[in-house]
Amino acid sequence: MNGAKTKEDLLKKLKELSIDFMENQNMASYSSIKTGGKADLILFPKNEAELGLIIKLTEGVISECFRYVVGGGTNTLFKEERICVPVISFKKFDSSFLDVSEDYQNYKKCGDKILRFGAGINLSKILNYSIRHNLSGCEFFYGIPGTLGGAVKMNAGSKESSVGNIVEAIDILDSNGSKRTVQKKDMNFSYRSLNINGIKDNYFITSVYLKLKESSKAEIAENIKIFKERKSGQPLGEYSLGCIFKNPEGSSAGKIIEEMGFKGVSFGGASVSKKHANFIINKGGAKPSDIMFLIDNIREKALESRGIKLDTEIKIV
Ligand SMILES: Cc1cc2nc3c(=O)[nH]c(=O)nc-3n(C[C@H](O)[C@H](O)[C@H](O)COP(=O)(O)OP(=O)(O)OC[C@H]3O[C@@H](n4cnc5c(N)ncnc54)[C@H](O)[C@@H]3O)c2cc1C
Repeated sequence: MNGAKTKEDLLKKLKELSIDFMENQNMASYSSIKTGGKADLILFPKNEAELGLIIKLTEGVISECFRYVVGGGTNTLFKEERICVPVISFKKFDSSFLDVSEDYQNYKKCGDKILRFGAGINLSKILNYSIRHNLSGCEFFYGIPGTLGGAVKMNAGSKESSVGNIVEAIDILDSNGSKRTVQKKDMNFSYRSLNINGIKDNYFITSVYLKLKESSKAEIAENIKIFKERKSGQPLGEYSLGCIFKNPEGSSAGKIIEEMGFKGVSFGGASVSKKHANFIINKGGAKPSDIMFLIDNIREKALESRGIKLDTEIKIV
């Protein structure tokens, strides 16, 4: 498949291939904080084959092979500026799962199960599946929204565990659309980030192999308790992006922001949560620039008054 030469050519080919797309979309619908600018073009591959075609087709109409991937958008803020590169949404992407333990017989320990999940599956579905089948290891998914692909890219988790601890391998398409299976030894998970040996950042995770352990309902329920408790201190019913800032080494961003007096501070439609100071919520009608205003103010004050550099955990596009 050759790349499209112009945008019109691209749209024609997408229609011929029955690949879903939308033009001129408001990105508020693709971010859990429910605000965002517009994107020229958003594409919805349903599986790896369609994603591969999209990568090949868009090569000719964009520079440097850049496309933006959005999973659940639960950690992504889209600014007001129009997005001119194609956005690839995983909203309709494969969310199937399969027990592939048989393929790992020589390697897995007794009581382990290896499951393959489509990258579009939501973490809550995996947690429900694991509870139903008495599988332990992903209890920390409790209260974390978004897709598994996004969670692997962000190494989502808590202080007890994170996705990197239970990932065995991932399938990816690289920026040229070539497929690779990346084994754990080539994945470098760190705090809210993943780097893959020898691969540039613009890759697409299509499936994820997780290792879970056979357990009991009682043990799993006990393990979930701690996450339930922690989540009760977060504004889960509000529109947000989870924690805005990463915790600086040895301290808590939420505590620092609270101590600086930001809890409840509002700008436009955005407000620093009264429940958890590292959350910014959209109270209604917040513009991305309202959220950025609060982020910039918190960052400046932390640096000025305490010499602390706060880095954002969220992705800002
Ligand atoms: C209420 C709330 C609570 C939260 N609690 C937590 C928590 O306890 N712990 C935690 O770690 N996070 C938490 N988060 C943040 C967020 O839910 C996680 O980071 C989540 O894993 C992001 O998944 P997503 O699919 O929404 O990612 P997105 O926001 O869509 O994307 C995040 C990043 O991953 C990339 N990406 C997405 N899908 C793919 C793919 N298939 N291939 C390649 N790259 C991809 C995107 O380009 C982007 O760089 C919370 C968020 C909210 C709103």
